[in-house]
Amino acid sequence: MIETRSAGATWSGNHQYRAREVLLPTGPDELAEVVASADHLRVQATRHTFNDVADSESTLVSLEKMPTRIDISGDRARVEGLLTFAQLAPVLEAEGRALHNLGSLPHISVAGATATGTHGSGVRNGNLSSAVTGVELMDAEGRTHRIDEAHPWFGAAALSIGALGVVTALELRTEPTYAVTQQAYTGVAWADIIADPIAVLGGSRSVSIFTTWGDPAHDLVWAKSDTGSPTWVEELGGTAVGDDIHLGSIRTVDNTTPRGTSGPWHTRLPHFRADALPSDGDEIQSEYFVPLSSAAEALAAVREIAPGFAEHLLVTELRTVAADELWLSPAYQRDVLAIHFTWRNDTAGVLSALPHVEAALAPFDARPHWGKAFTMPGERILATLARAHDFAAVAREADPRGVFRNAYLRRIFGD
Ligand SMILES: Cc1cc2nc3c(=O)[nH]c(=O)nc-3n(C[C@H](O)[C@H](O)[C@H](O)COP(=O)(O)OP(=O)(O)OC[C@H]3O[C@@H](n4cnc5c(N)ncnc54)[C@H](O)[C@@H]3O)c2cc1C
Repeated sequence: MIETRSAGATWSGNHQYRAREVLLPTGPDELAEVVASADHLRVQATRHTFNDVADSESTLVSLEKMPTRIDISGDRARVEGLLTFAQLAPVLEAEGRALHNLGSLPHISVAGATATGTHGSGVRNGNLSSAVTGVELMDAEGRTHRIDEAHPWFGAAALSIGALGVVTALELRTEPTYAVTQQAYTGVAWADIIADPIAVLGGSRSVSIFTTWGDPAHDLVWAKSDTGSPTWVEELGGTAVGDDIHLGSIRTVDNTTPRGTSGPWHTRLPHFRADALPSDGDEIQSEYFVPLSSAAEALAAVREIAPGFAEHLLVTELRTVAADELWLSPAYQRDVLAIHFTWRNDTAGVLSALPHVEAALAPFDARPHWGKAFTMPGERILATLARAHDFAAVAREADPRGVFRNAYLRRIFGD
């Protein structure tokens, strides 16, 4: 008898899963049994999404009772089961290896993050899915596939929004470990940011700009450098902030990673510490990706409509992601500016604000973050992704019974 638990809600509580229960197989045979006998199934990982991407009409499955395993060999790491970056990173570091980047928090699962194109920042850093070199997938019939970079499904499988089946293991590209020094600065004028956003966002290995689109006291440049302290921000008028850090209306107390000292990559690249609650918690997030070459125009367009959504916003974060070749990637074949919104946890308010943001960004062919709240119709998103129809064809081949097809996928790809 396979153990079950209730499906619960997303991490911030903004989406209550409609699925009746979560099945908890303890090994590959039980997983195959669950998958092959399911009418509708999706994987629930660490639940840090803000929409119904991980939901299912009937059942969810979690790998939380399955064995986890990390194998490191040369410049590759194979991770099996439900592992988070917080669990993986210290193991890599102990072997002298690193990932090229991390998101703002390490609490998320490797499979869930790569499934949605989760990213950190850096003009030369692809998203976390771009580090995937191989995917082990259990399809809707319980069959397993190893999909490496030469496999015809690779462009779909490395960033699959859970549509192809259950990812049981991932192979990731690693690099020699490196140290990072970070600092957060107030006082950089918006006029200087908008005059040359790529210069500011490209100043260090990873740069984030926080803003509330008006009050300069809320603007913050957070730079993470692998070549010593990011002092270039001071030349732009920046002053380092102390420990009491304000991200727009979010006052983060004792949950951010150390600033002003050098440390291993995984202790500095995330904004939030692994042992503390990240961000605000009581929030909804959205994010849109526009070509980096249109950054100044896209920022001006959002700033113009910002007074209309100010009451719903906690903070915006601006980051960059380097282009990749993954078919559903928000950075597919273009370097992008990521314009992120942390909203108050008020679904009606957020749903009233999003169409205005999406209209302002429409001239830039904006793509949404798959794991965050958005209202854009599927066909508008797919029109920005030249291989989206190839993705749909692979999903049909891997899942002919439509087991992994949920309401979210039907909204994007149709019935
Ligand atoms: C506080 C906070 C900070 C965040 N910061 C960032 C950030 O810096 N950058 C960014 O890009 N995003 C960020 N996000 C969003 C988050 O990283 C993504 O939404 C990510 O997909 C969450 O993964 P998860 O496993 O927690 O989510 P889940 O909802 O559990 O899973 C996400 C998707 O992956 C699928 N999936 C998971 N595991 C498997 C598997 N084994 N096989 C097949 N499908 C699977 C699920 O079905 C679902 O569709 C943040 C979210 C929060 C709450």
